[in-house]
Amino acid sequence: MKMHVRKNDKVVVISGNDKGVKSEILEAHPKKGTVLVKDVNIVTKHLKASKNAMKSEIVKMEAPINSSKVMLWCETCKKGVRPSYRFREDGAKVRYCKACDSEL
Ligand SMILES: [Zn+2]
Repeated sequence: MKMHVRKNDKVVVISGNDKGVKSEILEAHPKKGTVLVKDVNIVTKHLKASKNAMKSEIVKMEAPINSSKVMLWCETCKKGVRPSYRFREDGAKVRYCKACDSEL
């Protein structure tokens, strides 16, 4: 499955509890169609006490969300956009914003 976003992309969440949140992709999982987005879809996990930790602790971490819930953030348009693709003169495939013509 091909995804429109990849690691380190700036994105905006377009649905769910974190709708409207601007963040970045920590991990992309194309096979599952999910992404891990910084500070989005936070879940709390209780880590039980172990040899290394004297007491149990509560850890907050991101849980993956469906990649369709995020859009690429265009810094020029200041909004989430659907990327278009084109080839640069050097042959590299790049994503760009149709609205403002800047590379994403
Ligand atoms: Zn734009």
